[in-house]
Amino acid sequence: MADKSSKPHDPFFDLLAGTTAETGEKFFHNFVKHLAQTYHAQFALVTELLEDTPGTARTLAFHAHGNNMKNFEYKLQDTPCECVYENGLLYLKSGLQEQFPDDHDLVEMGVHSYLGMPLYAKDGSKIGHICVLGINPVAESASAIDYLHIFASRAGAELERIKVERQLLNQREKLAQMVDEQTVELRISKELAEAANRAKTDFLARMSHELKTPLHAITGFSQLMKEETAGRLNPVYKEYVDSTLSASYHLKSIIDELLDFSVLEIGKLKTNIKPHTIKPLIDDSIRMVTNKAREKGISIHYDEQSDNAAQIMVDDARLREIMINLLTNGIKYNHENGSITINVQATENSYCISITDTGTGISKVEQAKVFNEFERLNADQDCIEGTGIGLAITKRLVEHMQGTIGLESQLGRGSTFWVEFPAVKP
Ligand code: ADP
Repeated sequence: MADKSSKPHDPFFDLLAGTTAETGEKFFHNFVKHLAQTYHAQFALVTELLEDTPGTARTLAFHAHGNNMKNFEYKLQDTPCECVYENGLLYLKSGLQEQFPDDHDLVEMGVHSYLGMPLYAKDGSKIGHICVLGINPVAESASAIDYLHIFASRAGAELERIKVERQLLNQREKLAQMVDEQTVELRISKELAEAANRAKTDFLARMSHELKTPLHAITGFSQLMKEETAGRLNPVYKEYVDSTLSASYHLKSIIDELLDFSVLEIGKLKTNIKPHTIKPLIDDSIRMVTNKAREKGISIHYDEQSDNAAQIMVDDARLREIMINLLTNGIKYNHENGSITINVQATENSYCISITDTGTGISKVEQAKVFNEFERLNADQDCIEGTGIGLAITKRLVEHMQGTIGLESQLGRGSTFWVEFPAVKP
């Protein structure tokens, strides 16, 4: 086997070895260094043609007297490089300065010999060039020119790769800028929407509060009339007073709902969460809706088998509100003479209270919307009174007390709404 070290030194092999593993700036720096060595030239450079400034090239690497120099831009006019860009291969063994008398750099560099070749893109267009310049002739043999073709094609491929990389980078930057701009726009829209929402909530809170004051007077004086404190009323007026009273109670419940809603919206709900026995809270809630249920012939069953001593962590007033909301819906959306069943069940760390009615039921699609604010499903068409915020408030109240709420329902067969709260450990 031949001994490798005995092989004669091959500058072309050096050039290949020095550039194969490199890309980008490093590639071109090594490339011009080896090029200058190979061709015994004092100068070697590789350039790219600038697309946006015609007639101008920029060096990708410039080697002078054994050193890598700073890159620069230059006008091609009247230079040997212009000839390369226009006509292809240019080899001048000597007489370079005489051939290009207007290129004063050649005099400054003191060079007389030139070998240059264009760099081509895949589509055949000229995108750059390489050249070596020397005091003495830079290429002694014909094979030196043949080799230059090989190196020019490698340098051309690298330049094309860099251009694609630049384009990608450019597009990525543009995209990032677009994303940034849209993020700002979105943030502004979000802030505007939030400000509008806050204004709406403030308005609701103020209006509800203002409405309550005259309503108190209406309810109070109607109550006094009903009690006939200032003298007996004839039966017709008595009926009018009853209607006025029930309408004002109804109005009060709507205003209370709106107030609750605005308080929850601005996150100012105050609760006093502590252990409470479930049974008295449910009994209280049933008592509050008994009249309404009776008007519609609806019976309410509280499963007495339930765990009567069970305690949960809640605010008692808020739990009553939740129960009254769910029971009222169980009455409103029930058939005449239907029924409601309340059941309490222990789960691992909590208690689940369920309210099952024999009413209209809710389809699977509509179940997803039922807790949305101001969502009434078909209740408006059916002329059932309501605002559509009862369940939205209920859900927020439940979650405020670390509970969960859900429902199971079948259209035409009734619904079960359930709420679950943390149990008090015995
Ligand atoms: P409201 O009763 O004031 O309309 P809610 O937020 O309490 O508002 O309920 C939203 C909607 O969900 C109701 O309008 C009704 O269509 C439906 N819904 C609520 N509870 C029941 C129920 N138990 N059975 C059938 N539909 C119900």
